[in-house]
Amino acid sequence: MTGITLVVGELHDGNLSDATREVVGVALQLSGKEGVVGFLAGTSARSPAAGFGRLGVARSIVVDDVRLDGAVSAVVAHLVVQAADSVGADLVLVGGTTFGRDLVARLGVRWNAAVATEATALTRTGTTLEVRRPIFGGRATETRRMEGGHAAVALRPHAFPPASESPVPATLTPLSIAGVPEAFWAPKRLSVEVAPRGAGPTLGDASIVVSGGRGVRSAENFPLVEELAASLGAAVGASRAVTDAGWRPASYQVGQTGKAVSPQLYVAVGISGAIQHLVGMVSSRVIVAINSDASAPIFKVADYGIVGDLFQIVPALTNEIKRARGL
Ligand code: FAD
Repeated sequence: MTGITLVVGELHDGNLSDATREVVGVALQLSGKEGVVGFLAGTSARSPAAGFGRLGVARSIVVDDVRLDGAVSAVVAHLVVQAADSVGADLVLVGGTTFGRDLVARLGVRWNAAVATEATALTRTGTTLEVRRPIFGGRATETRRMEGGHAAVALRPHAFPPASESPVPATLTPLSIAGVPEAFWAPKRLSVEVAPRGAGPTLGDASIVVSGGRGVRSAENFPLVEELAASLGAAVGASRAVTDAGWRPASYQVGQTGKAVSPQLYVAVGISGAIQHLVGMVSSRVIVAINSDASAPIFKVADYGIVGDLFQIVPALTNEIKRARGL
């Protein structure tokens, strides 16, 4: 392995995303300031790519082209391979978003790379990279060794601290889309329909998630959960019992057939803790459960449990949090 790491960036609201900042932090630890190169592709990517320099990454490659609007990830994967080869990188790191997981799978084929997703720890010794990642819905942890050759790894969001601001003089090297085979442009994303979601941060990115379950009893009571979430600046989630009942849309669902989240704090309100729910949230850093049944399985994974009636506990908690935060 050359020791050079290419960080593939993603944007959120026109800036490098939180997931990308986390990836930069890991890359700097693995490869040092000299060994990390940023990469960003998109329409008007040039200006946000400068964000790499503010995080201590001195070199970046940017593909700024209006044709990238609506392009599928095959195009980006092609450009990433070009960029990685041009700087002699042997490791590509990306956030474990839908895009990132798709990208590393493509790099496995196009770049002949060893691939891992959901990485929660990485160590590099000489030509060997070791990746730890949860498997079986978080009930076991795998250590995977990648030796020599190329590797492409998607990091689990929120598993690592973001790189802090540490500006360095930075260069942006433009990369042209000219080399992308014409056939790769044929599939196009025509539109994006944003699924309805609660106020506040999105479920996948949020560092705090408050989810409600059947214990809330009705759609009319669900604002109890939403007010607690608002007091914490959290995203709102739900169990499948809630989305199946139509109390909240399917986009709120956390679990095996919903979204997998791994926030710093997950609060489960009136959720029993069925295995299909647990696999979507068990890797959260701190889990708080509020449930009237002391034997509910959610308490087996909870760091803090409150046994009692959510209709008494949640409003009291919300008021206390609002008071403490001066809201
Ligand atoms: P319940 O299991 O009914 O639990 C409600 C809880 O509320 C109970 O523990 C009860 O003690 C508590 N409660 C009641 N009243 C109060 C009160 N006043 N105060 C405090 N606590 C109270 N589920 C998901 O969530 N996500 C998935 O992605 C998912 N995928 C699935 C995929 C498959 C193939 C299958 C078969 C199932 C899936 N499920 C999923 C469903 C899952 O098995 C459970 O049925 C579901 O998670 C239960 O939701 P719940 O915990 O809200 O409801």
